[in-house]
Amino acid sequence: MSEKVNPPAASRPVLRSVTQLVAHGLAPEAQKEALDAVARQFATAIPPAFHDLITHADDPIARQVVPTPAELHTAPWELHDPIGDDALSPVPGIVHRYADRALLKPLLVCPLYCRFCFRREHVGPDGGLLSEEDLTRALDWIANHPAISEIILTGGDPLMLSPRRLRHIIGALSAMPHIQTIRLHSRVPVADPARITPALLDALETDRALWVVLHANHASEMTAEARAATRLIQSRAIPVLSQSVLLRGVNDTEEALEALLRAFVTARIKPYYLHQLDPAPGTAHFHVPIDEGRALLARLRGRVTGLAWPTYVLDIPGGAGKVPLGPDYYRPDTHPGFVRDPYGQSHTLDTAPSQERASEG
Ligand code: SF4
Repeated sequence: MSEKVNPPAASRPVLRSVTQLVAHGLAPEAQKEALDAVARQFATAIPPAFHDLITHADDPIARQVVPTPAELHTAPWELHDPIGDDALSPVPGIVHRYADRALLKPLLVCPLYCRFCFRREHVGPDGGLLSEEDLTRALDWIANHPAISEIILTGGDPLMLSPRRLRHIIGALSAMPHIQTIRLHSRVPVADPARITPALLDALETDRALWVVLHANHASEMTAEARAATRLIQSRAIPVLSQSVLLRGVNDTEEALEALLRAFVTARIKPYYLHQLDPAPGTAHFHVPIDEGRALLARLRGRVTGLAWPTYVLDIPGGAGKVPLGPDYYRPDTHPGFVRDPYGQSHTLDTAPSQERASEG
């Protein structure tokens, strides 16, 4: 039997239509009508780098990018603006939730469209760019808010911008004395690693602290090409962190989560956040209860290096902010206190009460 050889990714199309999904065996013909209804609400894009990783229609990669009729069902707790971006947007393209930082969303285009995305009703190939006028207004807004020291470039995916536009934005932010940190959140290194070119990296040159946060959810996304793209970013003295979403059928087992975290660390990526799924419409099939997520992480404690440890976080629905979900190991409400070890055993922690400690100096 001859082995199937895929042509180079760059020469193959991004799959966007239901017809393409059916033609490539990613969706059954019988679901066409339901998937057309999904397509009217949410964008689809499956780049060759992800298509190559799909082994069957319900595997951890397919679940992230292939639409399903389940998306037509909105659960009672799901919200159109799950983390309150709209209410916290003073001008188009800006979200201001915390005193010292703000989001800048210069475009709503992504290299793929995650089926669990909390901005799924906004992102898409037609979302386009902020207009020149709106971008200027957004940059002016940042310039006029000196309490903001960190800008998080998100979208959409900021590494989908042209090098020229990215250079313009990074340059404008770098000219503001109060901006100390610029963070870019991106899926490009895993979804379209060929976009990480010298010209794109040149556009990220700044004297400010610039960080890239790579979004990946399964170890198999960290292909040789993805690792090479990450290495190129790191070669410009840009630290790379990761963020992932805890997703049913993708990374909700000890084995899958451990493999993902180890894949990050071996690519010199520091795991940063593991997000609880935001309640966006049509995503209930990805939901993992918080208690289950805490138990999953507790089982990994002591089993994987602390370097691989992400903070498990919830963006409180409605926009109240992000909080860590644990697991926690210390019971401060008793004296002596108790602390649980990584293997589940409790230990008495006979420390002095905090007042006495203070007087001990
Ligand atoms: S890349 Fe990010 S913004 Fe775009 S669809 Fe995926 S999660 Fe949403």
